[in-house]
Amino acid sequence: MGWKSLDDMDLAGKRVLVRVDINVPVENGRVTDATRIERIVPTVRDILQKGGKPMLIAHFGRPKGKVNLEMSLGQVLPALTAALDCNVVMIETLEGAENLTQEALDADVLLLENIRFYPGEEANDADFARRLAALGDIYCNDAFSAAHRAHASTEAIARLMPACAGRLMQAELRALEAALAKPERPVGAVVGGAKVSTKIALLENLVTRLDLLVIGGGMANTFLGAMGAKLGASLQELDYYTTAQDILAQANRSGCRVILPEDGLVAREFAEGAAHEVQQLGPDARLKADQMVLDAGPKSVETVRAAFQGLKTLIWNGPLGAFEISPFDTATVAAAQIAAERTRDGVLTSVAGGGDTVAALNKAGAADDFTYISTAGGAFLEWMEGKTLPGVAALEGRPL
Ligand code: ADP
Ligand code: MG
Repeated sequence: MGWKSLDDMDLAGKRVLVRVDINVPVENGRVTDATRIERIVPTVRDILQKGGKPMLIAHFGRPKGKVNLEMSLGQVLPALTAALDCNVVMIETLEGAENLTQEALDADVLLLENIRFYPGEEANDADFARRLAALGDIYCNDAFSAAHRAHASTEAIARLMPACAGRLMQAELRALEAALAKPERPVGAVVGGAKVSTKIALLENLVTRLDLLVIGGGMANTFLGAMGAKLGASLQELDYYTTAQDILAQANRSGCRVILPEDGLVAREFAEGAAHEVQQLGPDARLKADQMVLDAGPKSVETVRAAFQGLKTLIWNGPLGAFEISPFDTATVAAAQIAAERTRDGVLTSVAGGGDTVAALNKAGAADDFTYISTAGGAFLEWMEGKTLPGVAALEGRPL
């Protein structure tokens, strides 16, 4: 681990620049989901407790380097103040941050206005980063979900001053290292979701590193189609048959066992409660032109259950079916509950990420039992693809 944590820093009396992700959904000026705000609370509290003075740096929306008050962090301030339960003062400009008023100096926590109002942020501009760095003594990055972007407040700044990971970043890095960098073996993954095309890099990286890969969801149709199955109106990407074959060949070379659905729930419409039947899948499957596979079937779930038996580590991204419409959530819910149970029993480390994946695991009531659920989206996927995350490399002092 090349990065430092808050435990390694002397924060007393220091101004700590904390990069956070509080890019929360807002409707009519109100925060509708405060999860991201809640997750930075431990870091801010820790800094305060150690005598540091936090100044939060964050982005909100995509103002593209221009001041746009529709994307002002002022909308987030009430929810942030409530979550931190202390006096938070917003600083509207960099000039204001360079010349703090007495009110600001007396505040517990400072919040800098949307950093993406400045073009230097997304350009990772060196001068802009120097200006930011001059605002504090120590840099703390707690925005893992922004770590796949090389921006001034996530990358360049970390190289200009003593830098460390915040609690959320630390938890995320520890979980991801345990899942993929140095997992307890055997290690497997569930990769599902709609399309192969959005997950090629993920699949390519995972098959070279894992012992087991369960492929599900719409993307499994493309794999089965590439093997000769005729899947009617099922979601498929005909242009990706070669990609699917290449991934299977690579898995074979790397000794990664691949499990594709043996059976599926087949319906004639993509709708809640649609009439459905169980059909055998596999290369010989011949569905009617108007039939589509919307979920993995009961035999597939039993195969997954058996395959999970020996696993020590499990990575999960993407549902096994169209989980938004029941009963096509059945396989995802069942597999999630198996993983949750084994995690609860202490025999499995389970790490999941992805917007729909988190929703599906919540629907299954499995999320709380997983070892770690990443809400980092793109950064989670890039990590699982084996890419270097600029925000993490900068904390480790590695070149970009
Ligand atoms: P995540 O957001 O967790 O990365 P994805 O966005 O890749 O996951 O995939 C989720 C989507 O895949 C869901 O909207 C789900 O309905 C869809 N999906 C899964 N299986 C199927 C299927 N067999 N047919 C159609 N859509 C499917
Ligand atoms: Mg999605």
